[in-house]
Amino acid sequence: MSEALIRVDRLKKYFPIRGGVFQRTVGYVKAVDGVSFDIRKGESFGLVGESGCGKSTIGRTILRLGDKTEGNVFFNGQDIYKLRKEEMRKLRPKLQIVFQDPFGSLNPRIKVGEAIGEALLDHGVTDRKEVRRRVLQTLEICGLASYHYDRYPHEFSGGQRQRIGIARALILNPDFIVADEPVSALDVSIQAQIINLLSDLQREQSLTYLFISHDLSVVEHLCNRVGVMYLGSMVELAGKEELFQNPLHPYTKALMSAIPVPDPTVKRERIVLKGDIPSPANPPSGCKFHTRCPIATDICSQKVPEYRNVGHDHWVACHLA
Ligand code: SF4
Repeated sequence: MSEALIRVDRLKKYFPIRGGVFQRTVGYVKAVDGVSFDIRKGESFGLVGESGCGKSTIGRTILRLGDKTEGNVFFNGQDIYKLRKEEMRKLRPKLQIVFQDPFGSLNPRIKVGEAIGEALLDHGVTDRKEVRRRVLQTLEICGLASYHYDRYPHEFSGGQRQRIGIARALILNPDFIVADEPVSALDVSIQAQIINLLSDLQREQSLTYLFISHDLSVVEHLCNRVGVMYLGSMVELAGKEELFQNPLHPYTKALMSAIPVPDPTVKRERIVLKGDIPSPANPPSGCKFHTRCPIATDICSQKVPEYRNVGHDHWVACHLA
């Protein structure tokens, strides 16, 4: 088993809720509430759950794009929240992110070649010819052509824009990339192209991914291990095959029942969860999932289930699993 590149240890990220005339803190949105997991070198770790479950916040907090509330994040054994500003700046090229909407982070008045090259200039590569050479090389690696260098963001399709987003992350030779819903806004056929590109890049450049998605079927294609989050907590984590063949948590089972089956002769019973996802500012007592769980019993609302290893490196937080 390869060693951990990223170790997340009891990570919490709370956002204050302010109210009253003096805008005092009157509560907290517990976006990430004590989550621990490792991401091994060279693996693609999938993080899934409904929107608002805290998965994107984890991605950003791992990269230290903002503060944590409690807990630790280690990169190659180094606690990144203990690094000074300058040390963090030096580490930054190794830790990159691909967003769902790369268009939002691109200046419409700057040519994409220059936008991709900005990161190199920021990190001390001052030779303009070298910057251009590396941008052209990265465009090619990402399936774009050299003439795209001089084009503006609005001249690209959704899939091409995501290739630009990947090129921006890749230009600094990172070790670790958080891909935050990178294909959610794309058509299905384009999704496959981007997933194949990410998969090829991972193999060729020995990358490690945290792949965030609300869609388990997307994660199934790319990831080695998968964690399932609900309301700020990890409720299940296992290797991909183990999780897909033997899901134990009722929430994971419900997510899986929503994956379309390509064979029309196979019928899968859909588990429809009742109610909306509760507010992370006021999560339910005991098991946070008990208000929607189809098999909840009395103990579920009273006692927080232990997150435990049930064998085969399969972790679950459910009294009845
Ligand atoms: Fe459902 Fe109870 Fe398990 Fe929570 S602990 S998932 S409510 S059965």
